[in-house]
Amino acid sequence: MKMMLAAVFCAFTFLLMLVPPTHAAAEPQVFPTSAGPVKITPLNHASTLIEAGGKTIYLDPAKPAKLTGLPKADLILITDIHPDHMDPDSIKEVSKADTEIFAAPAVVQTVTSGKPIANGETKTWQGWTIEAIPAYNLKRGPAPGKLFHDKGRGNGYVLTYGGKRFYFSGDTEGVPEMRGLKNIDVAFVCMNLPYTMPPEEAADAVKAFHPKIVIPYHYRGSDLAVFQKGLEGTGIEVRLLEWYPK
Ligand code: ZN
Repeated sequence: MKMMLAAVFCAFTFLLMLVPPTHAAAEPQVFPTSAGPVKITPLNHASTLIEAGGKTIYLDPAKPAKLTGLPKADLILITDIHPDHMDPDSIKEVSKADTEIFAAPAVVQTVTSGKPIANGETKTWQGWTIEAIPAYNLKRGPAPGKLFHDKGRGNGYVLTYGGKRFYFSGDTEGVPEMRGLKNIDVAFVCMNLPYTMPPEEAADAVKAFHPKIVIPYHYRGSDLAVFQKGLEGTGIEVRLLEWYPK
């Protein structure tokens, strides 16, 4: 009997080896709201496509996200000045004549057509409410006394549409402003060292504001199993998507 089980196990393992690992682009996620569905497509790392009510929004369109053939932007939201968030080439590629850009003030100094939205500010746009949430490091930086992301420079965003609240963290550690968020339906939360935070800290911060669903993004090099384990038994749905398609 033991032999037979071992043989079955070996055969199964062999079959698994024949299946190539997939790094296909993640499926778009569709969330129902009272104003109609919101479709969110992971593009790469932090780059995200959001579609609702016939309008197209990009968050942090940047290389190496493949943007050819995708719809042009009605609105572009940018969180920070670093090239994985603010990439003039990608912004140009998804822009049309009337594309609007809302971005952190430090970003607007480079992307001149953008409208600044500072930490704590709220704007409305085509049925959306856009709140800028502070995104910054508490302790991590390139040298003692320096931070990768200084408080006040970068934005996370809470985007509300048809009564549903979507949070994109931007580059941040588990700051009090994140922990204090209320009524978040879907949270996209960053994790990666050395720039933001490790998965166990991200899980701890997510526990504090308790979204219904959390989707790790901007997670290059992080062990998502650690994140998942940190939220076990909390009732928060952890949805793992492929943000680094090959
Ligand atoms: Zn980043």
